[in-house]
Amino acid sequence: MVEEKAPRPAKDALGIVLLFFAYFVTARLGLLIDPVAGFATLVWPPTGIALAALLLFGKRLWPGALAGALCVNLVIGASLPVALGIATGNTLEALAGTWLLWRIGRFDARLERIDDVMALILLGAIGSTAISAAIGVASLQAGGTLRPGISWPTFRAWWLGDMLGDLVVAPLLLVWILRPALARRRFQVPEAVALGGLLVGCGLLVFGRDSESGLLRLPYLIFPPLLWAAVRFAQYGAVTATFLISAIAIAGTTLGFGPFVQGTLSESLLHLQIFLAVAAATALTVAAAIAERTRAVDVRDEFLAIASHELRTPLTALLLYIQTELRVLRRIGSAEQNDAINRLETTQRMALRLDKLISELLEVSRIIWGRLQPEREDVDLAALVQDSLARQQQQLQQARCSVHLEVEGPVRGQWDRGRLDRVIDNLIGNAAKYGAGKPIEVRLDGRKENVLLEVRDHGIGIDPADQARIFERFERAVSRRQYGGFGLGLWISRKIVEAHGGSISLMSRPGAGCTFSVELPRSLDAQS
Ligand code: ADP
Repeated sequence: MVEEKAPRPAKDALGIVLLFFAYFVTARLGLLIDPVAGFATLVWPPTGIALAALLLFGKRLWPGALAGALCVNLVIGASLPVALGIATGNTLEALAGTWLLWRIGRFDARLERIDDVMALILLGAIGSTAISAAIGVASLQAGGTLRPGISWPTFRAWWLGDMLGDLVVAPLLLVWILRPALARRRFQVPEAVALGGLLVGCGLLVFGRDSESGLLRLPYLIFPPLLWAAVRFAQYGAVTATFLISAIAIAGTTLGFGPFVQGTLSESLLHLQIFLAVAAATALTVAAAIAERTRAVDVRDEFLAIASHELRTPLTALLLYIQTELRVLRRIGSAEQNDAINRLETTQRMALRLDKLISELLEVSRIIWGRLQPEREDVDLAALVQDSLARQQQQLQQARCSVHLEVEGPVRGQWDRGRLDRVIDNLIGNAAKYGAGKPIEVRLDGRKENVLLEVRDHGIGIDPADQARIFERFERAVSRRQYGGFGLGLWISRKIVEAHGGSISLMSRPGAGCTFSVELPRSLDAQS
């Protein structure tokens, strides 16, 4: 929520003057396009400019809007009282809009939440603009300027023109001035250029020519690029695309082109404005939904990082305590103590399992935050496998899995020891978990340029439909009730192997077991 800022006289005065000019110039432009009853225009950007200015820089800038509205109405021939009435309505609209959005909408002007977009639509675009339209029409009536019977069309034109200002112009200013964070992706600039081209192309196709023929009369053609913009470029895409399309559509319709052209220009613009209001609201809502989703994922990742880090500390202490106790009990070695040793060993197994799960979570957060630079040193893969088998001896025994290790050729390279430990532990651990009771074969082959590690089991295997998916984050191909786990091990393994410039693959038939193959270049230079 934007709070009222402390007064800064010089800056405020400058803000008021700038708002005055922006209001006056854009109002003058709007009034060039066929105003209903001479005053109620269907294109009224100043409403959006005033609302954005007050929201961003504080309500104290209202005199800029008042003076701008007053001058422009005097210039187009309103009497002083009528111009004053209209200008008061316009100013109250901006003040009320700001107040409603802050107080009732608890508005965040970055438009990153669906609630903010809804507040802007309901409280700003639909609610506050009715004030200006009502006071404006009443002023014209009181001044005797309004022909009888056209109050409603005038009110409607006024209201819709202002509404579009709040839905198209205000969001454009809010987003580009506040600049909410946008996730960086590859090929962003070329994509933005392609999207811009498509938007303008579609806009011109629909609104840039006398479109008699069937398909090109369809205004809905603008929705695909509009949604593309909102989905891929969030608020930036939504507000810019809506603004571009609106500008093309209004210019085209004013020149007599496009699907909304009717008997009179006011009629044409009326239908166009309703269409554009719906398009703008849709794009803003989609962009907010995308931003909410991105934020939810960020929050989850951050939580994972903090939680796993915090959980690790007491667990390490606990494991240390268990180890010490076990050492002491084994030294004493009486029959009574054997029971205690068994119980403590079970506790240790559970604590180790917990430790494995937590370090998986910790590794996830490291990968997400891009801290997966391998720390390379001279490593013998055969020794790593042997260490891993020793570490998992208890688990392998429990699963009744014998392991056969075969090494051919030299299997040394420049790798991150700790990280490769994790990959090997995970593949052998999975072979025991999903292939219990059956033998496991581990093969290392260093006869070629790249070193190959193969872990084969004869367990439950993996359905071909799941084979690509299980290398992704949180993906599993077994039921949670049958087998515990987060579905992170293979994803982490893939990331580690890829960070070494290698690859991991799988061959499997359901019921016949799995063979996981890891191919590793021996060093950074050996990566092609
Ligand atoms: P987790 O084992 O914790 O679920 P992993 O990322 O290690 O997570 O594995 C993802 C999924 O791949 C597992 O849930 C399981 O469905 C499948 N999987 C992995 N290794 C094997 C294997 N050796 N045999 C059969 N299925 C496996």
